[in-house]
Amino acid sequence: MTVTDSLATRAADIQRRMAAACTRAGRSSDSVALLPVSKTFSVDDIREAMALGMHRFGENTLQEIRDKAQVLTDDAIRWVVIGHTQTNKARDVAKYAHELQSLDRLSLAEALHRKLDAAGRTLDVLVQIKTSSEPSKHGLAPDDLEDFLRTIVRDFPTLRVLGLMTLATHSGNADDVRACFQLLRECRDRARAADIGGLTLDRLSMGMSDDFEMAIEEGSTEVRIGTALFGKRDYGTPA
Ligand SMILES: *Cc1c(COP(=O)(O)O)cnc(C)c1O
Repeated sequence: MTVTDSLATRAADIQRRMAAACTRAGRSSDSVALLPVSKTFSVDDIREAMALGMHRFGENTLQEIRDKAQVLTDDAIRWVVIGHTQTNKARDVAKYAHELQSLDRLSLAEALHRKLDAAGRTLDVLVQIKTSSEPSKHGLAPDDLEDFLRTIVRDFPTLRVLGLMTLATHSGNADDVRACFQLLRECRDRARAADIGGLTLDRLSMGMSDDFEMAIEEGSTEVRIGTALFGKRDYGTPA
C-alpha cells in the first residue's frame, strides 16, 4: 500500500466513525467537521491531505506555520492555530493565520487586535476553556467566560468569536473525559443565553484522535485529529 493510500484509508475510516457517532447522537453527519492537525508532519503529508480535499490545517506554533506557509503557497490553504500562543506572536498570527482556537486571555486578545487592526483584517477565533483541573492545560476558567466575551465584543472588534474550544483531561477515565465535553457545552449554553453582543457561539471544537466519538456525542461541531489521520508523531530533534 502506498503512503497516499493509507492516508486516504485512514481519512475514510475517521469519516465513517464520525458519521456513526453522529447517528448515535441523532445528529446529521454534516454537523461535524474534521480539522486535520498537521503539527510535526511534513509539507508532503499536507499535500497528500489536500489531494483528498482537505484545506484547513491545525498547527500548534507560528514558527511551524511560517515554515510551512513558505513552501505551501496554495491560496486555498487555511492555517488554524490550536496551540498556546505568546503575545509576541500576534504579528505572525495576523500575517499567516486564518483562525485561532486558543484564545485564552485578554492580553493575547489585545495584542491580536492591535496587529489585526493595523493589517485591516479580522480573525475568526474560538475561546479556549479549561475544562479539566490538570495544571498543564491552558484555557480560561469557565466562570470567567461571560466577562471575557463582553470585553472582546466591546474592545476588540477585529476578533470574531465563533465558539469555544477545549482539550479534555488525559486521565484516561471515560467519565472524566465526557465531563470535560459536557462542561464546554454548558459554558456555551450559558454564554449564549446571556446574549452577549448577539454571539451565538455555534462552534464547539472538542475531540481528538482518542476521544472524538465521545465529543461528537456531547455536541462537538469540529474534531481536531492528528495521529489517527497522519500517524504517530515524531517530535525528533527541534528544527
Ligand atoms: C496535537 C493536538 C491535537 C491532535 O491530537 P491527536 O491526539 O494527535 O489527534 C488536537 N488539539 C490540540 C490542541 C493539539 O495540540
